Amino acid sequence: MKTASIGIIGGSGLYHIDNLTELDQIQVKTPFGDPSDTITIGRIGSENVAFLPRHGKGHTINPSELPSRANIYALKSIGVKQIISISAVGSLDINIKPQDMIVPNQLIDRTKARESTFFEKGIVAHVGLAEPFCPTLRKILIEGAENNGTKVHTNGTYVVMEGPAFSTKAESELYRSWNASIIGMTALPEAKLAREAEICYATLACVTDYDVWHDDFENVTVEMVIKNLQSNVANSRKILASILPNLPDQIKCKCNNSLKDAIISDLNNLDPKIVERLNPIIHKYI
Ligand SMILES: [Zn+2]
Repeated sequence: MKTASIGIIGGSGLYHIDNLTELDQIQVKTPFGDPSDTITIGRIGSENVAFLPRHGKGHTINPSELPSRANIYALKSIGVKQIISISAVGSLDINIKPQDMIVPNQLIDRTKARESTFFEKGIVAHVGLAEPFCPTLRKILIEGAENNGTKVHTNGTYVVMEGPAFSTKAESELYRSWNASIIGMTALPEAKLAREAEICYATLACVTDYDVWHDDFENVTVEMVIKNLQSNVANSRKILASILPNLPDQIKCKCNNSLKDAIISDLNNLDPKIVERLNPIIHKYI
C-alpha cells in the first residue's frame, strides 16, 4: 500500500486539491470502521500527500456521523505525520469577516454525541490538550495564507458545536461572551484524536457567515455558506498548492511524542487484542 507523510482533510466544498499527481486511491479498513471515503494518495513536490474528503465526496455524512476515529486511524496507518484540516466556519467576532481565513489556536468543545478517544475498553490515556493545535503547522498555514494575499487571522478560539442545526441567538451570544472567535462542527474530536495518534494537526478555517448574532447581517443559511464557500475553497486550494511542495516529511515538534507519559494503564499487562487494535498508535511504547 502507498504511504504519505502529509494528510489533508477537506471540509465542505473541498472534495479534491489542485496540483496533485494522483498515484492511487486506497480504501483503508480500521478497527473503528470505514473512513469517510477512499483516500487519494498523490504527489506534490517531493512528498506524498493523502487527501480525504471529510463528509464524503457527495457530502453525505453529517458532522455527528463523521467516522473521525477511522479517519485519523487510517491516516496514521499509512504514515501520515501532519494533518492540515480545512473547515468552513461562522464568525462570532465583528472583525473576522466572511471570506477571511483564520488559523485558530484554541478550542471549546460543545459536541455531545461523538467518540473522542482511541483509548478505551482496557486501555486509558490522558494526552495534553492545553494547546490543541500544532504550533509549527499553524505557523506554516499562516505564512502560506499571508503569502497568498489572503486576509488571515493568526489566532482565535473555535467553538465546536454538535449541529447539524445552526445555533440559536442565545447560544451565539453566549459563545461571544466567552470571547470565542468562530464556530464550526468538525475540529473536534479530530484534534483530540490526532494528538492521541501523535500527529501534528492544524486547521485552516474559512469564514462563511456571521452565525446568527449580527443584527445587520442575515442569519446563516446553507445558501449563504455555499456562496462564500466557493471563493474560500478556491483560496484554500491555492494556499495548499503553495505550502505543500515545501512542507518537510516530518516537522520537529512535541506532538510526535504526545503519548509519552500519557498512557496510564500498565503496558506490560495489556490484552493482546488491544495491542493489535491500536498497533499503529502505540507500537513504539510496547
Ligand atoms: Zn506538531
